[in-house]
Amino acid sequence: MRILQVSAEFFPLLKTGGLADVAGALPWALRDAGADVRVLLPGFPSILAGVRTRGDRPDSVAFAAGPTSTSLLGHTPWGDPVHVIRGWIENPGPPDATPLVAYVIDAPTLYDRPGSPYEDAEHRPYDDNARRFALLGWVAAQLAQGLDPAWRPEVVHAHDWHAGLAPAYMALGPSDGQPSAASVFTVHNLAYQGVFAYERFPELGLPGSAYQMHGVEFHGGWSFMKAGLFYADRLTTVSPSYAREIQTPAQGHGLDGLLASRGGDLTGILNGVDETTWDPAHDAFLPTPFNAQKPAGKALCKATMQAELGLAQAPEAPLFIVVSRLSEQKGLPLVLQGLDALQAKGAQLALLGSGESWLEQAFSERARAAPRSVSATIGYDEARAHRLFGAGDVTLVPSLFEPCGLTQLYGLKYGSLPVVRSVGGLADSVVDASPQALADGSASGFVFSRFALEDYLEAIDRAVALFLNAPSWQQVRAQAMRRRFCWAEAATKYMAVYRSLLGPIRASAA
Ligand code: ADP
Repeated sequence: MRILQVSAEFFPLLKTGGLADVAGALPWALRDAGADVRVLLPGFPSILAGVRTRGDRPDSVAFAAGPTSTSLLGHTPWGDPVHVIRGWIENPGPPDATPLVAYVIDAPTLYDRPGSPYEDAEHRPYDDNARRFALLGWVAAQLAQGLDPAWRPEVVHAHDWHAGLAPAYMALGPSDGQPSAASVFTVHNLAYQGVFAYERFPELGLPGSAYQMHGVEFHGGWSFMKAGLFYADRLTTVSPSYAREIQTPAQGHGLDGLLASRGGDLTGILNGVDETTWDPAHDAFLPTPFNAQKPAGKALCKATMQAELGLAQAPEAPLFIVVSRLSEQKGLPLVLQGLDALQAKGAQLALLGSGESWLEQAFSERARAAPRSVSATIGYDEARAHRLFGAGDVTLVPSLFEPCGLTQLYGLKYGSLPVVRSVGGLADSVVDASPQALADGSASGFVFSRFALEDYLEAIDRAVALFLNAPSWQQVRAQAMRRRFCWAEAATKYMAVYRSLLGPIRASAA
């Protein structure tokens, strides 16, 4: 089965959040499940730098489809020529393992900008974002139509709003008489929708008839996210709970009606943990390895981190960590409001994040006021993120909403037990340390329901109380570390979605 994955990010080449972790892990897992997978990415500088087009050609038969690298020539909907480079991304596994074929849109005027792929240094979305990401969907549709004569996908799998026009271009574009590819669209976060004013629409090559309620129109503008949700053959999102939640007004961000009407086409598939990157037994960022069987190294990870951050060297102080975008979504106002209570219990907080400036400032001030018990690193630091999970006793993820959440999964894997709100993928992945779950061996963290300080603090109290009971803590920690959220399982579910579309391959619209 030939699958084209389309996303704006790809770990390790470009990452601003969980989308990259998923886009960088799923193709390999799908390939292990038997699919012939390639990826399409925009030519941001770090992606162009990371996709190989020169050097020794990998020998693998599976890879050998045409010349090693090629520049395919297409055109944009607004008539400019565009090059699509075909290269490869090295396998993060064994050095001789087969690489992944990657198509990269080489359009420097659109993508060659420093910093964030989505916004300028003042955090303003780029003016031409509609063009920049329409081109991603457009090229996906061109590949589905045979742009690369050597390989034509049967399924185009588009991720998040950036790739949301791919299903629309595929559904509304001309047919070349070949069987048409099917489309799958995955929502990673419904809060970010790619909404633009009408003025951007006419140049993007979609028929005017698509600009209506049963199409891309959205409250007087139009939406990439809606296009994906409306035109894709099948929809998925990143946890079963989020699949239910986004069909309700409370979490539908204005698209719950459409999502509910397509409820039969929507599947929630929980993300996995990429163990080539996230495994404390083999994590080169940690000062020493550890795992559920041999957890001793975790104490050294904690002591090293406390020293690195200037926190008091106190093994007996529970170390709470946050690795997060600093936004209201992530429940950080609760963490701030609850910080006095946390400190009063003798706990420490180590935060790593960037985002809304008021949160950056507030946490920085708290760290300045109590540097031995609160640390705030403002910025993005992959290595420190790993070391924090290795060091932490508790990972805080008290989100307002959370499509899947990866940090609680990393917290589980690294024995930094998650405190989470019972929402989205958090509810699907953490088992509260209730008396019953403690007794039956399923407890893996601390879950609260209402988004309220009182409820959050009650969960914190329970976490600290369990921490002070060393045998119980070690038992729950070992249980958490043994929980597996593997990509193989998720890939099997995605394969079932793809297969359901390829039943009889749809005849092309004549
Ligand atoms: P999001 O909503 O931001 O995608 P997820 O929990 O799904 O949230 O994924 C966040 C990813 O980004 C995780 O891999 C996490 O470790 C990483 N991350 C978030 N903030 C930072 C940071 N400041 N530095 C390093 N990694 C970060």
